[in-house]
Amino acid sequence: AAQKSQVHFVLVPLMSPGHLIPMVDLAKLLAQHGVIVSIISTPLNTIRFKSGIDHSVKSGLQIRILELEFPAVQAGMPKGCENMDSLPSRDSIKDFFVAASMLQKPFELLFSDLKPKPSCIISGKNMAWTVDSARKFRVPRIFFDGMGCFSSTCTQKLQSSKVHEVVSNFQPFVVPGLPHRIELTKSQLPENLNPGSPDLVDVRNKMVAAESISDGIIVNTFEELELEYVEEFKKIKGGKVWCIGPVSASNKSESEKAARGKTVSLDENQCLKWLDLQQPNSVVYASLGSICGLTCSQLIELGLGLEASNRPFIWVLRGGEKSKELEKWIEEERFEERIKGKGRGFLIKGWSPQILLLCHPSVGAFLTHCGWNSTLEGCCSGLPIITCPLFAEQFINEKLITEVLGTGVSVGVKAAVTWGMEEKSGLVMQRGDVKSAIDKIFDKGVQGEDRRRKAKEIAKMAKRALEEGGSSYLNIEALIQDIMQQSLSSVEATS
Ligand code: UDP
Repeated sequence: AAQKSQVHFVLVPLMSPGHLIPMVDLAKLLAQHGVIVSIISTPLNTIRFKSGIDHSVKSGLQIRILELEFPAVQAGMPKGCENMDSLPSRDSIKDFFVAASMLQKPFELLFSDLKPKPSCIISGKNMAWTVDSARKFRVPRIFFDGMGCFSSTCTQKLQSSKVHEVVSNFQPFVVPGLPHRIELTKSQLPENLNPGSPDLVDVRNKMVAAESISDGIIVNTFEELELEYVEEFKKIKGGKVWCIGPVSASNKSESEKAARGKTVSLDENQCLKWLDLQQPNSVVYASLGSICGLTCSQLIELGLGLEASNRPFIWVLRGGEKSKELEKWIEEERFEERIKGKGRGFLIKGWSPQILLLCHPSVGAFLTHCGWNSTLEGCCSGLPIITCPLFAEQFINEKLITEVLGTGVSVGVKAAVTWGMEEKSGLVMQRGDVKSAIDKIFDKGVQGEDRRRKAKEIAKMAKRALEEGGSSYLNIEALIQDIMQQSLSSVEATS
């Protein structure tokens, strides 16, 4: 495609909210730069972002949504399991990836008919088979990294030094070769650095192999946020790395922000009205992401910690399998009435319009599990952060927030829930830890002020990165130019 308006990106996200949501945001961001974008997903997933995309299409952006049936039943899963947040249990993750890889053939059939001819595939890094499809159709395949440069760099440094292999579970060690002194323990590391579940080794190996032969990496971050680590990550990858975020900023209007990722309809107006009644910068917004691994008793500790803080809060309840147990507790304890009576709490049972709420002026702090998307969204909203990591690379993101950026206070979780040790008292969290982290974050002293000031500066940098001439803006333009150049060369090679 010699013309920018004919450049056509085909996006294939992994079907998990933490991947799907930022890739849909990426689709909008690319389309806002004047190219054509097709998003390929399955019916129960596209339904979750269709209305958000409709807004963009009406405003003239060239985004299409294409559907493939998800072969859940063929892979041994119940009908309707099309997203990692709807799996019956952790044990079905393997089947889920089997089903996802069965999408290759129907994908290729669909792909061969797309007009204009696609210029590039961008896929979630777990969708390894897209590398083969890209080869068949002679288009570049770029992968969308779900992590930031800080955590990717830390992970790489550990993989090559293996320092974590010679220590006991709770003995702190320093990650070697980093610009900052970062201490972690083995019990906090992501599964790919620990033995992990053997049935996922194959999935992981395929992902690593696909990654090594990709034509580049798109990272949802902005260079100013983690500059030293962007440089380090580029050195490690030795190839094209485009930092184009924060992608959530592609949602400009309130209605787009409210529609983002929505599964069931929550009346966001009710929540906004409640927020309007609160003092500026007073509310704690607490949410542990889209897939919550915590046990019910741990979730209760979180709820009681929020209550004990004596501050207004919004608590997003996504208990997954445990939601029934948790709701029973809430009812028995009359928890909702208790906090409502004091006008202090608002429970969201289900999907929360997170980015809409985070930018409300009454919200004063974000208690998060440190998933990468939430971490970035916290940074964009200019809020100080209370960190409560649970699994994957979340403990590493916690270090970025508390040690590198200096905008957060840790609840002090000691072990990832995937280690199955959360029931041993104190390993995950106790209400007192939640309360004291909240007290600290609202502290009026020098440290508290410093965190709030830094958080505001970061939010300004995030905004600037995507404005015309900003680092992410220029990186998106460079990516599009690169793809145009590659399609020109392939036309020349074949003519
Ligand atoms: N999210 C949301 N409402 C919810 C839960 C999650 O909008 O009730 C969004 C959140 O804004 C983020 C994504 O879902 O963009 C979750 O991604 P993250 O990386 O933070 O965590 P994960 O869910 O992958 O653990």
